[in-house]
Amino acid sequence: MNNLNINEKVDFKNLINIKTMTVLLMIVISVIIIIAVPKDINTKISYEELTGFYFDTYISVKLYYNDKDSYNKIIKDANQTDKEYFTEKLNDINKMCANYHNLWDKNNPESDIYKINTLRNTAVDEETYKIIEKSVEYSSLTKGAFDITLGTVTTGFNASEKKIYNEEKISGLLDDISYKSIKLYTFSESGKTTYYVELLSEETLIDLGSIAKGYIADEISSYLKASGINNALISLGGNIIAAGSKSQNVPYIIGVQKPFDPAGSNIATLKINDYSVVTSGIYERYFEADGKLLHHIFSPKTGMPVENNLYSVTVIGKDSDMCDMLSTALFVMGISDGIKLINSLEDYHCIYIDNEFKYTYSNELELENGVFSIK
Ligand code: ADP
Ligand code: MG
Repeated sequence: MNNLNINEKVDFKNLINIKTMTVLLMIVISVIIIIAVPKDINTKISYEELTGFYFDTYISVKLYYNDKDSYNKIIKDANQTDKEYFTEKLNDINKMCANYHNLWDKNNPESDIYKINTLRNTAVDEETYKIIEKSVEYSSLTKGAFDITLGTVTTGFNASEKKIYNEEKISGLLDDISYKSIKLYTFSESGKTTYYVELLSEETLIDLGSIAKGYIADEISSYLKASGINNALISLGGNIIAAGSKSQNVPYIIGVQKPFDPAGSNIATLKINDYSVVTSGIYERYFEADGKLLHHIFSPKTGMPVENNLYSVTVIGKDSDMCDMLSTALFVMGISDGIKLINSLEDYHCIYIDNEFKYTYSNELELENGVFSIK
């Protein structure tokens, strides 16, 4: 057990694009529960925090002690202190993360994703079925820009090893990239339903990398709300849910990372409560070859990293799985189609940053002195 005393400012830096820290943290296998003390001398906002390394990224979940009323009865009945209660919930969240990690890590032979990709037609966990069903719906919504069957080619991509399939191999795989190759079906017997996923095209592989963290963040948030904890900051890699508020009248300030600058350098900030914020950018996982920047957001049309004038897209909305999916999809769609799509969705917002560090943002956002907020 560690005791860390992290100043709030440093804390925000950690939140922003923590993916760049993941290389350093790859060696962290076990999860540390950090018992917090009041973190900021000025505001004295105290919380309990769980940190760990899952889903190939650094995670942090903070529970703020600012609304005892909502869980008071639960802890009284259980004869627990707040701290005991929060620690118990964080332990549960740690287990949830470990379970999801094992279920969806495509490299783990025990995972559902590995089974789907190798067996081609297999029974899966109900949640695996659900997230794939959602992913297929999202492919329709984004006219194919979002497509988990890009796993067919992203499997050959590794930024740290500077690997990508050659063009010949990719062109041979283009027909296998289509969400239409995913068949979902169920089988019910004696009141028990079994869920199946089948891949119809021979070389198709799926990869939940652009939606899983959002989905899991939503599950953590629902679990906390059901436990009477309404004020929490969940960060799974770049996937953030800022639930409730840190303290009465203190909104969350979430940084928007300046592309290619060291982690924690903000180009702008966002002032929000009760929203998820997710960024997809090309500066996160990339390498250069033949004068091209090869990054991890792929076009379903070319099977290659998307080539446009964008550095990143940040999406703000209520559901983190939708934000996660949209941040990737909007990047693929480009500014014009992406802004049209986001403006058609109720209470979803976005900020594009192009290669000249210019912003383009959706109708309902406003920007004042470098701070974005929802109108
Ligand atoms: P990160 O997971 O780093 O936060 P994203 O959410 O943008 O970033 O997801 C990128 C990952 O999603 C890639 O590593 C790849 O596995 C997968 N992916 C890449 N392009 C697409 C796409 N167009 N649709 C669906 N998944 C994609
Ligand atoms: Mg995404």
